Amino acid sequence: MVEHVDAVVVGAGLGGLAAGVALAGEGRSTVVLEQHSIAGGYATGFQRGPYRFDAALHALNGLAPGGGVEEVYRALDIWDRLRLQRLDPLYVLRGGGREVVAHADIFRYENELIRNFPGRAQQIRALVDENYAVSGAHDYFAAVKRSAGKVSLYAIAVDTWPEALEGRSERFRKCRTGKATFSFPAMDDELAAELEAFLAALYRPYREHHAHRSGT
Ligand SMILES: Cc1cc2nc3c(=O)[nH]c(=O)nc-3n(C[C@H](O)[C@H](O)[C@H](O)COP(=O)(O)OP(=O)(O)OC[C@H]3O[C@@H](n4cnc5c(N)ncnc54)[C@H](O)[C@@H]3O)c2cc1C
Repeated sequence: MVEHVDAVVVGAGLGGLAAGVALAGEGRSTVVLEQHSIAGGYATGFQRGPYRFDAALHALNGLAPGGGVEEVYRALDIWDRLRLQRLDPLYVLRGGGREVVAHADIFRYENELIRNFPGRAQQIRALVDENYAVSGAHDYFAAVKRSAGKVSLYAIAVDTWPEALEGRSERFRKCRTGKATFSFPAMDDELAAELEAFLAALYRPYREHHAHRSGT
């Protein structure tokens, strides 16, 4: 039985585990107490007959550069050990004679919801706008994050308007690390100018899309 510890964390969900790892990483002796037989909290699952259920969480949010969680995982020194898979669509809901596809692109998802529930269009748009406003850190249009000697760009709008990549230099396109992510190891003036032009090209359809949305 441990008699003295610097910190006791109650609950081994993602929050408690992250707190425990952070405290231990600071050199503090830490105990994480969990009432359940397994750790993970909402990030666990269970089996009933042939079916496997998620307790709650089915995908991790906020992992894109600038999304907030990435920063936490880097601080916990686990980021490089993860193999991430972007989910698009996030899920498909079937029931009541409907099929609703939850697209990763928030505005495609919005259109999908409005198509299914046209009488609720106003409320759906209001909800998306509010979500958009509070999630400014991982902006739909482009999240740019700078660290020493590196700039990461997450531009989910590339999914909707891939033509914005046309005409970009080989060097620029080589910086693409995923469908909508880029990493620029050395940001010289030439590359910075190209990044600016790319964002401008991406912003044009994005702005028009918004103008159209607010006019409807
Ligand atoms: C239906 C649903 C779907 C979700 N889907 C997603 C998703 O797709 N993506 C996403 O990123 N997030 C999702 N979330 C949110 C995400 O699951 C939570 O934000 C996250 O898992 C919360 O972690 P936590 O550590 O704060 O709490 P929890 O996961 O609730 O962990 C708390 C832990 O504390 C333990 N505990 C409680 N009291 C005591 C006690 N007195 N003594 C000992 N142990 C105790 C519990 O047993 C549990 O293990 C979803 C949430 C819900 C409810």
